Amino acid sequence: MSIATPLQRVFDRHNLYIKRDDLYPISGGGNKGRKSHYILENCVEKKCNAVVTCGGIQSNHTRATAIRCRELGIACTIVIHSDEVQESQGNLKLLKMLNVRVVYCEMTNVARTMDFEMERFSSLGFSPFYIWGGGHCYEGTLAYFDAVKELKQQTNMKFDAVFVASGTGATQAGLHCGFKHYFPDTQVFGISVAREKHRGEEEIKKSVREFIDVNKFNSDYINDINFDDSFNCGGYENVTNELEELINKVATQTGIILDPTYTGKAWLGMEKTLKTQQLNKNTNILFWHTGGLLNLMARK
Ligand SMILES: *Cc1c(COP(=O)(O)O)cnc(C)c1O
Repeated sequence: MSIATPLQRVFDRHNLYIKRDDLYPISGGGNKGRKSHYILENCVEKKCNAVVTCGGIQSNHTRATAIRCRELGIACTIVIHSDEVQESQGNLKLLKMLNVRVVYCEMTNVARTMDFEMERFSSLGFSPFYIWGGGHCYEGTLAYFDAVKELKQQTNMKFDAVFVASGTGATQAGLHCGFKHYFPDTQVFGISVAREKHRGEEEIKKSVREFIDVNKFNSDYINDINFDDSFNCGGYENVTNELEELINKVATQTGIILDPTYTGKAWLGMEKTLKTQQLNKNTNILFWHTGGLLNLMARK
């Protein structure tokens, strides 16, 4: 159903591999490309012809959704919870080029604004489809469950640990269930890009529970959820000098480009976690690269 991304060995790093979802085939790449593929398929199956979703100014989810809608000829409204900005860079630049309807509102008004936009589409004769921010839904989880199946088809290797940037948690929930299913000895480590531990873990658990209920998987899948909030650098879109230096170092040493909002934090969490754990040199590590190039380019 989706398209396989490369599995790549990192130059000069013993037993470190990268799943290149930053190269997922959609302009700008990333995990929101993979999720939106599944979500919009569901929209089409439900015979809807308009989409309403939301996100921040530099949301990869809104960019991926807007691109899919244009590919499919589906109308699209993006609700952005921020003040309107004059200059446009990164994801916002693409939203403007795609010329979808963009509505700005206050954070506290997102639900009401999205409801209003749903009704607006209905009153215009459309059949609208609602997508939660970040593409947080069953299909998003499923996309990442299937991504592990894709990995299984690419390699016989046993990974001991997987590191991934975790935001709304759907990507981690899908990977968690996928690894439980296809590589039961692998541990998935979600590195929080924003949320504190308790909130983040609860959201992932909700998604995992929904997924195992629908698919009648073992209820043990709910165990061993690792969500670490020690590397979020003070919150969403916050950056530290350490993080910036790490991103530059990784680019120089490996050619892998990380970003300051998501994948840089995940790599930071990976390096620090591996340092504190007793691992033998045959430990195979997988870094699941979720994208973020446009977030990098949108910053000074
Ligand atoms: C959204 C996003 C994430 C987090 O994905 P979730 O499914 O929301 O946890 C990670 N990396 C990038 C680049 C993203 O855009």
